[in-house]
Amino acid sequence: ATPTALMVGTGRGAQLGILIKGPEVLESTRAVDTVVLDKTGTVTTGKMALVEVITADGVAADEVLRLAGALEDASEHPIAQAIARGARDRVGELPAVEDFANVEGLGVQGIVDGHGVLVGRPQLLAEWSQHLPPSLREALEAAQSTGRTAVAVGWDGQARAVITVADQIKPTSAEAVARFRELGLHPVLLTGDNETVARTVAAEVGIDEVIAEVLPADKVDVVKRLQAEGRTVAMVGDGVNDAAALAQADLGLAMGTGTDVAIEASDLTLVRGDLRAAADAIRLSRRTLTTIK
Ligand code: ADP
Ligand code: MG
Repeated sequence: ATPTALMVGTGRGAQLGILIKGPEVLESTRAVDTVVLDKTGTVTTGKMALVEVITADGVAADEVLRLAGALEDASEHPIAQAIARGARDRVGELPAVEDFANVEGLGVQGIVDGHGVLVGRPQLLAEWSQHLPPSLREALEAAQSTGRTAVAVGWDGQARAVITVADQIKPTSAEAVARFRELGLHPVLLTGDNETVARTVAAEVGIDEVIAEVLPADKVDVVKRLQAEGRTVAMVGDGVNDAAALAQADLGLAMGTGTDVAIEASDLTLVRGDLRAAADAIRLSRRTLTTIK
């Protein structure tokens, strides 16, 4: 492959809305047989909206929104932003937060109005012995079975509410998955989100293989495991939590709408955040390389 010929491919890539880090990147796409797709922000818009607050007995929804909203206002996670926005719409100004901490892939914690507040996966609350009462567990599972993300809220030692947020599958995702299949690529959905939510989203876009409830630090291990099975892996992601996996993949593709960390860790950037461009990039590189031979 001559560098000049590859540069032609690079220029064409820019037209398609693909930024390529260097001409040599195209060569590594040739052998790709598996495409691992992050769910939130990649297959879905990641622009979530607050849907519902379900409370335990004697707990006021506005209090849940004040405390959870204040805490989430300090986080950049799409779920957090949806909760903070929804809370502000309903209860107005949110109180200040002290000792805020982000627990990667699990949720957030901090002190609001003198209460130690947790928002996130039930596992996070369970670490503090805050277990969901049956009514809240049922509400959480019911939301998840419809593909919604549900998070638990607890404070002062007790789980007190479930907040549900809805994300939207990008209108282009199903077509992108179909294009991957046309290219003979095997799609895999990878997410930190709950298995039921992940399966619902996967079914809607035509993906059979789902790897869910993966902590951010373990996403890279999933890529390594697939590689150990002999697969050549392209990974598409958008978040800080995807960066290590994007760097580990044989080909890393970042959503241009995603975080800088993900973009830096990747070989290719899909400028418009349109997953179809990932399939175009792989097709383009194959064509470019065929021309060179
Ligand atoms: P994904 O892999 O889909 O991008 P993450 O790894 O970022 O998801 O998060 C996994 C799960 O952890 C979320 O689905 C949510 O349940 C929980 N979580 C993470 N951060 C937060 C937060 N700031 N507030 C509430 N829940 C959170
Ligand atoms: Mg993501």
